[in-house]
Amino acid sequence: ANQPGHEQERARVYGVYYANIHHWKRPARESLPGMLQAYHYGLESGQLIFAAVAALGYCYMSFHCGKPLAALDEEFTQYDEVIKRKLQCLSQYDVNALYHQTLLNLLGKNTDPCALSGVAGHEADLLHRLETTEQFATLHTYYFLKHYLAFQFGRYEEAVQFADRARKFVRFIIGTLTVPVATFYDSLARLAACPTAGPRRRRSLLRQVRRNQKKLNRWAQQAPANHRHKFLLVQAELARTRGRQLAALDSYEQAIHLAHENEYIQEEALANELAGKFHVARGTTGIGVTYLRRAISCYRKWGAHAKAEHLSRMHPELVSVKDAGANGKALAVSGPVGVYASNFDLRTLVKALRGIAEERSHSQLLQKTLLTAMEVAGADAGALVLRKSMDRYFVEAEVSMDNSKPRILQSIPLEDAPNVCEALVNYVKRTRKSVVINDAQQATEAMHGADLDPYVRRTHAKSMLCMPLIVEGAPEAEQLIGLLYLENKQASDAFDEQRIETLGIICLSATGRLELSRKAMTDGLTSLYNHDTFQSLLLKEFSASRRSGRPLSMVMIDIDHFKTFNDQWGHQLGDAVLIRVADVVKSACRQSDVVARYGGEELGVILPDTDGPSALIVAERIRANIEACDTVYDGTTVKVTVSLGVATTAANITSTESLIKLADAALYVSKAAGRNRISVK
Ligand code: GH3
Ligand code: MG
Ligand code: MG
Repeated sequence: ANQPGHEQERARVYGVYYANIHHWKRPARESLPGMLQAYHYGLESGQLIFAAVAALGYCYMSFHCGKPLAALDEEFTQYDEVIKRKLQCLSQYDVNALYHQTLLNLLGKNTDPCALSGVAGHEADLLHRLETTEQFATLHTYYFLKHYLAFQFGRYEEAVQFADRARKFVRFIIGTLTVPVATFYDSLARLAACPTAGPRRRRSLLRQVRRNQKKLNRWAQQAPANHRHKFLLVQAELARTRGRQLAALDSYEQAIHLAHENEYIQEEALANELAGKFHVARGTTGIGVTYLRRAISCYRKWGAHAKAEHLSRMHPELVSVKDAGANGKALAVSGPVGVYASNFDLRTLVKALRGIAEERSHSQLLQKTLLTAMEVAGADAGALVLRKSMDRYFVEAEVSMDNSKPRILQSIPLEDAPNVCEALVNYVKRTRKSVVINDAQQATEAMHGADLDPYVRRTHAKSMLCMPLIVEGAPEAEQLIGLLYLENKQASDAFDEQRIETLGIICLSATGRLELSRKAMTDGLTSLYNHDTFQSLLLKEFSASRRSGRPLSMVMIDIDHFKTFNDQWGHQLGDAVLIRVADVVKSACRQSDVVARYGGEELGVILPDTDGPSALIVAERIRANIEACDTVYDGTTVKVTVSLGVATTAANITSTESLIKLADAALYVSKAAGRNRISVK
C-alpha cells in the first residue's frame, strides 16, 4: 500500500470516481468526503494537478449540494489559495474563482449580483483569455454561472441567451454533476421567459424544455435523491405554462417536499419561490405570500441574502398582505367549525388536498370535499350542487346546522332544495364568479337584492358564499360542473379573504376529482347512469329492501325495431332519439328512482319502495309519453315506441340477478306479443 506511485493512482481513481460516477446513482453529498480524500492522495503523491482537480471538484460540488454559503465562502477562500499558489493550476483556479464569485454575489457582497468580476479578476479580461487559450470547460463554467445568476435575479431573456452559449461547451464537462444542474436551470429560465415570449419563440423555448426533461427524468430515475425534485419542479412550471393549475399545484408541493427531504435547501427555496409566484399570478395572493415567505426563510438559511432581498423587492404583496395573526378582524371571527389560529397552515391544506385526491368512492368524495370546505371556510352549513344533465343542477350532499353529519342526498333538484339559496346559486351559475356576502341581512354590492330574497328572509342567514366548480380546458358548455355553497348562519363576515383563497384551491382539486368520478359513473351519450352504476345501485336498493321488508320494483325498457330505425334514418338521428327517450323516461320517474342505460338501446329503471301495481303505473306513463313524443327531422316526424318488462321483489327472489332475469323475461313477452306494451312478472 505504501509503494511509490500508489497514491498517485488512488488520487486519480478517487477523483474520477467521485466527480464523474458516484453521483449518478447515489446522493451527491456522499461524494464530498471522497473528493477530499482524492485531494489528500494527490498532495501526498506529489501529483499536484490531481490534487487541484479534486479540490476544485470538492468546491463546486459543495455548491451544487446546497452547503451554507457563509461556510462555503471560507472553504473556497482556502482552496482558491491552495490551487493558485501552492499547486499553481491556473485553469482550475479560474473555475474555482468563478464559483466563488457567484456565491459571494448570492451572499450579497457584490453591487451587481449578476457580474462575475472580482475574485476571478476582471470579467471581460477573463473571458478574452479563456477564449484565446481555448479553455472550453472553463468557458462552460463562465456561461453557466452567468445564466444561473441572470435567472436568479429575474433577467430571464439574458439567462436564456447565456444558457444557449453554455450548451455549446457542455461536452467538455460531461460526467460532472454540473450537467444535470445546468439542464435544470436551462429549463427553468426558458419557462420563466415564456410569458413574455411570442407564440413562435414560446414553442421553441418549450421544445428545448421537453428535450431537457427527457434527460432529467432519466437522471432522476437513476439518482432520485439528487434530481427527482428538480424534475418535478420543471414539471410544475410546465403545467403552469400550459394552464394546468391542479397539476402544477401538485408538482410544486412534491418538489418542495422532496427537496426538503433530500436537504437541497437552495432548491427547496426555489420551489417555494416558484410556487409562490404561481399563486400570486393566479390571484391566491395569501397562499402565494406564505410560499414566498418560506422561500425567503430558506434563502436566508442557505445564506443567499441578496436573493432574499431581491425576492422581497419584487413582491410588494409581502408587505401589503398582513398576517392573519396581526389582523384583528380575522381573529375576531370564529366560526363554529375550524378556525385559523394565525397564518395559513399550508401543511393542513396539503393534507386536505391529499385526502380529496385519495378518495375513491364518489359518495365519500362528496362528503370529504364538503366537510373540508366547511372546515377551511369556517361554515356551519353547506351543500354541493352538481350538474347532472346538460343544464340541470342537483344538491348531492348537504350539511345543515341541525344535523351536523353530512347527508348524501338522492339528487334533490336545486329548485326543490330547502337549505340552499337558489337565487345565489343561479347568480353564480350565470356569472361563473365566486360571490361572498358578508351580511345577507343587509343590502350588498356582491349581489343586488340578496337581502330581499325569500330564502334569506326566512333563514336569517348571515355570511353566504357560493363558488363555481370549473373544469380547466373543457368545452365552454361543460366547464361548470357544479357549485360549492356555504353559509354561516350566526356570524357575519365569516368568510375572509384568506379562507376564500384556500377554498379556491380545495375546489380546484375537488373539481378534477368529481369530474372524473362523474364520468366513470355515467353514460356519455345520455348522461344516464351506466351499466356498472346500475348494478351497484340495484344491489344497494335490493339489500335495503330486504332489510326493511319494503317492496322494490324494476323496469326494463327496450326500443322497438331500433335497428330498422337506424337503417332508415341513420345512426345520428338514432342517437338523438335515444337521448330523447332517456329524458322522457327520467321525467316520468321520481327523483329517488334510478334510471340507467343498461346497454345499447335498453334502459333499466329502479323503483325503490314501489310495489307491482304502482310500478305498472310508472311503466304505463313511460310507454305512453314515449309514444306521444314526436321528433321532427328534416320536415318529417319520426317516432319510436318501447316495450317494457316489470318485475317486483318477492320471497322467491333472492338476488339482483334473478330480479333482472324476471324483468327481462317480462320484456321478452311484450316483444313477442307485438311490442309497444308492458308485461309484468
Ligand atoms: P326489437 O328490440 O324491437 O326486437 O328490435 P331492435 O331492432 O331494437 O333489436 P335489437 O334490440 O336486437 O337491436 C338493437 C339495435 O339498437 C342495434 C343498434 O342498431 C341499435 N343501437 C344500440 N345502441 C345504439 C346507439 O347508441 N345509438 C344508435 N343510434 N343505435 C343503437
Ligand atoms: Mg335491444
Ligand atoms: Mg330494441
